[in-house]
Amino acid sequence: MDTNNQEGQASPLYKAKSAWAFCDKESEKGKTASFCDGYIDFLTSCKTERETIAFCKHFLEEKGFTADPGKDKYLATLRGKALFAFRKGTRPLSEGIRIIAAHADCPRLDFKPHPFIEQEGFAQAKTNYYGGLRKYQWLARPLALHGVICKDTGEVVPVQLGEEPGEPVFTIADLLPHLAQEQVAKTVKEAFQGEKLNVILGSKPSEKKDENGKDVPEPVKLAVLELLQQKYGVREEDFLSAEIEVVPAGPASYVGLDKSLIGGFGQDDRICAYTGLMALADSMPSAENCALILWDKEEIGSDGASGASSRFFAYCIEEVLHKHEPETSRGTVMMASQALSADVTAGMDPDYADTHDKTNSANLGYGPCFEKYTGAGGKYGASEAHAEYFASIRGLLNRHEIPWQSGILGRVDHGGGGTVALFLAAWGMNVIDFGPALLGMHSPFELSSAADVYTTYLAYKAFYEG
Ligand code: MN
Ligand code: MN
Repeated sequence: MDTNNQEGQASPLYKAKSAWAFCDKESEKGKTASFCDGYIDFLTSCKTERETIAFCKHFLEEKGFTADPGKDKYLATLRGKALFAFRKGTRPLSEGIRIIAAHADCPRLDFKPHPFIEQEGFAQAKTNYYGGLRKYQWLARPLALHGVICKDTGEVVPVQLGEEPGEPVFTIADLLPHLAQEQVAKTVKEAFQGEKLNVILGSKPSEKKDENGKDVPEPVKLAVLELLQQKYGVREEDFLSAEIEVVPAGPASYVGLDKSLIGGFGQDDRICAYTGLMALADSMPSAENCALILWDKEEIGSDGASGASSRFFAYCIEEVLHKHEPETSRGTVMMASQALSADVTAGMDPDYADTHDKTNSANLGYGPCFEKYTGAGGKYGASEAHAEYFASIRGLLNRHEIPWQSGILGRVDHGGGGTVALFLAAWGMNVIDFGPALLGMHSPFELSSAADVYTTYLAYKAFYEG
């Protein structure tokens, strides 16, 4: 006798099931691998919110989504940084929409408006870090530049440097251990300063002289600007209106002899952007009205026009309502909607197990994780999902036999975090945080489980199908 007692009842004990038992089934093995291959390619080619939104927009357009809110497949973007995709079901909109919301921005280093300096024979770019990152992780590693330079003529010059074979990369030099005796005695916060995150751009002086035949004051900086002018037709002033993001150079890849893990930059939260996108594309059209939202600025508090606190999402809903069901109010749709705040959570880290509450932590390889509440301390800043709603989604996945788990981020009073859930909840809809666990979240090389990537996609697909 194992799980059933004499009355034929299931065991009262609960234990999350390994997602590998599911993914290694004959029917799923090949699908898991091919889905993750596609995900790795996506991570490699989309490293900024702009690149992610452009990829998703193009992908959805190929699937028949258009800018017409009167059609059954509607797609809107905001300044190339946020996206709303909607697929009409047969149910009235007054019965709500099934929404998956993820974010496309990631912690990284941004060029400052006046980036260029020259110090001790090096031309460098000053940066301002974006989001919560550990500064030392960005030192002594190959970096690439991604973004746009906007000229005063209206021309937008796309930039991507440091990714193609044969292209140079960039870096921030770290202090040698020989001279780090003072630094290593400091706290991590004091030892690594934001103002030292200066990216090396070059070290060779320009041969140009001034009008008197004398050396120019900053010849290396000048040389770098000359190269940028040749390559992109831009001048120093143009960088005032540029958005250049410094990101880790190079591709994402499988990790481990068993290829069970995926390593790469920006899996928070492009893992949910990708699985959500594919779920929307692959789910069978059904009675359900379905929407995918990709927001920007989540990592810095969701403010700004392209962030979750903006009106963009509400305007998109209004467009859809106006065309399909003008008699229904926006409030009715919002209150009847069900949302998944599709974001990552912290997985149990074998070397930092003491930062987690083992009973309530997520584990890599156990499927997407429900986080009933986020926040910090005494649930401060939390969006807590209603128990009834959590139960309904759990039931849906159980009926589909899709693996899932439940966890919360870290030990009580050890920190915390938030997602876009509270911005969806503010409309009165049901929402729960639900996404895969990562190791090394917010690092330049985040780790996910291949089994979680695939089962998250299946879970999102089941949610859309209803
Ligand atoms: Mn996130
Ligand atoms: Mn994050």
